[in-house]
Amino acid sequence: MDHLCHAEGCNTKVHPSKFVCRKHWARLPQVFRDAIWREYQRGQEVSKTPTSRYIAVQLGAVSVLARIDGLPTAEEKRGHCDLWRTYCRDGQGGDPFTKPMELELYGQLTGMLK
Ligand SMILES: [Zn+2]
Repeated sequence: MDHLCHAEGCNTKVHPSKFVCRKHWARLPQVFRDAIWREYQRGQEVSKTPTSRYIAVQLGAVSVLARIDGLPTAEEKRGHCDLWRTYCRDGQGGDPFTKPMELELYGQLTGMLK
């Protein structure tokens, strides 16, 4: 089965271990690339068991990319990300956005400071 770029509206085929296509990876601010790598666990695309923290970070990155691409789904994705962040904070490993820079940029790019 084809694995597609996770960015909203992008149908570029990518390797299952890749989060997004080259174009979207290049658009993603460095702090989010770092966060994705920090939470990624080798083989999770095979085991299908990403951590809650990874899911939260991924949704945050998808939200940021949707905002950068000017898509209306950015709001919805941000909502999903925030639900997962809350879930993580409530005992599933803590808020995955650990660095002030991530929180600040996430807030700026998605239009809401938390
Ligand atoms: Zn893409």
